[in-house]
Amino acid sequence: MSEKKPFEIARETLKQLTTQKLAPTPANYQAIYNEIAGIPATVPFPAETLRDIAKALPVKTPGQQKQRGLLDYAIDRLNWEGVKTALVAYGSFPPLTGDDKPAAAVAPKTGLNASAPALTTEFLGQMGRLIEYTQPALGSDDERFSELTKTLTSALRQSGSDVLVLKTMLVNYSDRVSFVAEDQAEIKKTLLKLLHLLFENIAELSLDEHWLKGQMDALMSAATPPLTLRRLDDVERRLKDVIFKQKDAKEHAVQAQNEMRQMLAAFIDRLSEMAKSTGNFHEKLEENARQIEQAKTLAEIAPVLKEVVSATRAMASQSKESGEELQAMRDRANQTDAELVKLHQELDRVSTQARHDPLTGALNRKGLEEAVEREISSVRRKDTPLCMALLDIDNFKKLNDTLGHATGDGALAHLATVARECMRPQDTLARYGGEEFVILLPDTPLDKGVEAMTRLQRELTKKFFLAGTEKVLITFSAGVAQLAPDETGADAIKRADKAMYLAKRAGKNRVLAA
Ligand code: GH3
Ligand code: MG
Ligand code: MG
Repeated sequence: MSEKKPFEIARETLKQLTTQKLAPTPANYQAIYNEIAGIPATVPFPAETLRDIAKALPVKTPGQQKQRGLLDYAIDRLNWEGVKTALVAYGSFPPLTGDDKPAAAVAPKTGLNASAPALTTEFLGQMGRLIEYTQPALGSDDERFSELTKTLTSALRQSGSDVLVLKTMLVNYSDRVSFVAEDQAEIKKTLLKLLHLLFENIAELSLDEHWLKGQMDALMSAATPPLTLRRLDDVERRLKDVIFKQKDAKEHAVQAQNEMRQMLAAFIDRLSEMAKSTGNFHEKLEENARQIEQAKTLAEIAPVLKEVVSATRAMASQSKESGEELQAMRDRANQTDAELVKLHQELDRVSTQARHDPLTGALNRKGLEEAVEREISSVRRKDTPLCMALLDIDNFKKLNDTLGHATGDGALAHLATVARECMRPQDTLARYGGEEFVILLPDTPLDKGVEAMTRLQRELTKKFFLAGTEKVLITFSAGVAQLAPDETGADAIKRADKAMYLAKRAGKNRVLAA
């Protein structure tokens, strides 16, 4: 420590400031004073500046609020360590994510308000895109909302927009979004309800609702959330099928009704004619009877008898003709009826088996072909992997032999149900043959495809099939192939089939990659 007295140190300090041509600021004065007095150089604690910074920190989460409190506390105690700890912890609750740079580094470049840290032009542009991309989901029914969206996205894209103005716009937009989104959700729910109601009513409106039942059940389940574009597409195709077949059936039924009506009219016509001619015949007979009563000689009776005989003959032949005509009409009616029965049987068969297997509800071969085509064109467009798995139940013949064919049917339906439960909504299940199924797994590379099938095996060990009270474990062997570039769906399934065969050879109950 120096021996100098404070006033001497002060004088010396002023002298040094002048000779060193330093600005007479409190900081310079203190630094030189300390140097002369031999006091260790300490950087002054900028409490006020730090308090200003602390005040500018936005507090949006409870975590941030806590760290702001700790920061204030550390500033009050001039505690650098505390300031550091609080700021580092505050930084772990960032309101903005990712690669946003600190405001100081970007503010001059972007021209943004310096009190808005980390709001880069790129970030705001991204926000604009996000709002623009979500717009279709919110619909365009509300014109004011569409206008608001347009103004906001263009403001977000302009570099140099005032952040405070943007903030107000965003607050307004968020308010509107909450209403519009609620409306859209309600509209979707109501439309779905209407669709279900429509399905229920189609069956009622149909002349013969029996053949529609299978289709309607499938439509109902396809139109139950969670909805995917694929499922809606399925609904659309099935509905087209139903409408087409219903129209066809109705036309036939109307035609049959017309024929029946015509036949009935002709029948009544004939009946009245017969009644008329029978009436004439009776009148004639009475007339002849009177002539016979009044006749005095045999010669007078002879011509009358002749008349009676010929009238009776005419009557008999007329009756025969009418009888034949009526019989022909009856035959025609029976034929039309038989045609209708055949038509409905055909409709029954075609409608439930159009694209789905009636036993398991999985797609049938025709449905699978369409699904494969759709998936392949989709994955080729998006350039994503598609896996095709082929599974074959192990020892199914033995199950049939020991428990009966009906139980075997139940086991097939059970496997399809468990598969559907553990598949993702975008996966497709199809019955490929007797006890063979194909599963299409879009956006799935080979290893994940094998994993998915192994998961299904595990599920089957947890969800036993119940044959009466007996628990039956169903196992399967499977091959999984990932569609190669330029490969056809049929070839990929063939490869999966070969791998499945190898799985059987290797001891069954396993999944192999092709
Ligand atoms: P592996 O483990 O080698 O596959 O033997 P497996 O007995 O499962 O195979 P196999 O091909 O010899 O027998 C398949 C059996 O599946 C024969 C057939 O009777 C039965 N099957 C096919 N379709 C149906 C069906 O719709 N219902 C029932 N219950 N059985 C069916
Ligand atoms: Mg088989
Ligand atoms: Mg088998």
